[in-house]
Amino acid sequence: MHQNYINGQWVGCEESLENRNPSDLTDLIGQYASGSAADLDQAAQAAAQAVPAWGLSNPQVRADALERIGAAILSRKGEFGHMLAREEGKTLPEAIGETVRAAQIFKFFAQETLRIAGDAIDSVRPDVDVMVTREPVGVVGVITPWNFPIAIPAWKIAPALCYGNCVVFKPAELTPGTAHLLAQIIAEAELPVGVFNLVMGAGSVVGQAMVEHPLIDAISFTGSVPVGRALAVEAARGLKKVQLEMGGKNPMVVMDDADMPLAIEACLNGAFYSTGQRCTASSRLIVHRAVYDDFCDRLVTAAAALKVGHALGAGTQIGPVVSEKQLRSNLAYVDLAREEGAEVFGGEQINAPTEGFFQRPAIFRNAQNSMRISQEEIFGPCASVIAADDFDHALALANDTAFGLSSGICTGSLKYAREFRRKSTAGMVMVNLPTAGVDYHVPFGGRRGSSLGSREQGRYAAEFYTSVKTSYVFAG
Ligand code: NAD
Repeated sequence: MHQNYINGQWVGCEESLENRNPSDLTDLIGQYASGSAADLDQAAQAAAQAVPAWGLSNPQVRADALERIGAAILSRKGEFGHMLAREEGKTLPEAIGETVRAAQIFKFFAQETLRIAGDAIDSVRPDVDVMVTREPVGVVGVITPWNFPIAIPAWKIAPALCYGNCVVFKPAELTPGTAHLLAQIIAEAELPVGVFNLVMGAGSVVGQAMVEHPLIDAISFTGSVPVGRALAVEAARGLKKVQLEMGGKNPMVVMDDADMPLAIEACLNGAFYSTGQRCTASSRLIVHRAVYDDFCDRLVTAAAALKVGHALGAGTQIGPVVSEKQLRSNLAYVDLAREEGAEVFGGEQINAPTEGFFQRPAIFRNAQNSMRISQEEIFGPCASVIAADDFDHALALANDTAFGLSSGICTGSLKYAREFRRKSTAGMVMVNLPTAGVDYHVPFGGRRGSSLGSREQGRYAAEFYTSVKTSYVFAG
């Protein structure tokens, strides 16, 4: 069994979880520890003990450790990519790309460690100095989803360590293999005992215990809205700092003046790459009526030509859906699309040489924005195509959602691009680019049902991972 990492030791536990390849159900990746509340308690205690020394450690020590971790991930990117594609189902090039991004994030925060700055402000009282400094929050619980099993842990663990916090990491049940590899690298990075801990296991057990644990000071969570909402309520009871990144129903507007091949590519990429299993996926394509039919015809043709298959297969463009449960849910939404009156292209389960959860990309033509298929996050390769009368109508449709993570517009007009950027109610806006695909050194996050709390990534991460102290010194 692949073990948990607690207090500087690899430790087994009674229960384990089976990790299987969604591209080939005969491929058993391994058994992974499924921890208990007692394991979480040990990890939280170890982390709490490590906080005082790590929090006051020389930033060069932390910078060097983060740099070593980033370099080690890069040097093993093939191994990571293979594991990631095998257990999550994204294609090998996508999986290696995600791994490289995780390494870049560790390297970015290695440098940020040397830029932790404060303010010196003149006091309104004589002979008094005022200083505003940033200090670590303490023990940070990291809870992550399966769809970016190395990038998301990286963008939480790296800033947590950078700013002097200790970490208890609980990865998603479906992707423990990548998390375990990452923990191996961090374990080899010579951090003091207890600074980093991995507790794999069920959300309802380990995750729940983390949220309730008095020694966990803050929780950074990425996952679904229902789990995030319940977690925030529970964390409020314990007065923990919380950051939530959740779902999306991201709009991509295609105007009548768009470069059509560019728009088709951006929509194909945004809606279907990574099997549509991205919080930033373009699941609502809002298309100007003047080009609606042309757009739909081209998109249907292009989507039908995408090669769906084994994530590790040469030339595969769309890997499998991550699990049987997710596939069933996607197929139910395809049925719902018909019931709601959309015209469905693709979306059926398909067979491949290996037994897995393969589904053809689904396009819901003549969809309305008010339909459930256009309002609920499906989290699969499914996109509604909604007609808009003009720019104002398209903008109103784009903003008519309970979410607000990412949005995009394809247009040749600077005026439309500017208006959309200013009036979109999403946290991230793309012009002539897919709604998915972001840089690693700038803030990431959304509004309303998509995010709660301060932004992740880039130097904005300091808001969550530090606590501000204001000091007054009287010189006499
Ligand atoms: P999920 O909410 O089911 O699980 C996320 C994590 O929470 C897992 O580690 C799970 O074990 C844990 N968890 C479950 N129950 C818990 C509990 N009671 N207490 C504490 N932790 C618990 O989500 P998922 O299916 O793994 O991921 C898909 C979701 O993640 C989608 O909604 C997607 O949009 C979202 N997501 C958001 C972003 C973003 O940055 N906004 C990025 C990626 C994925």
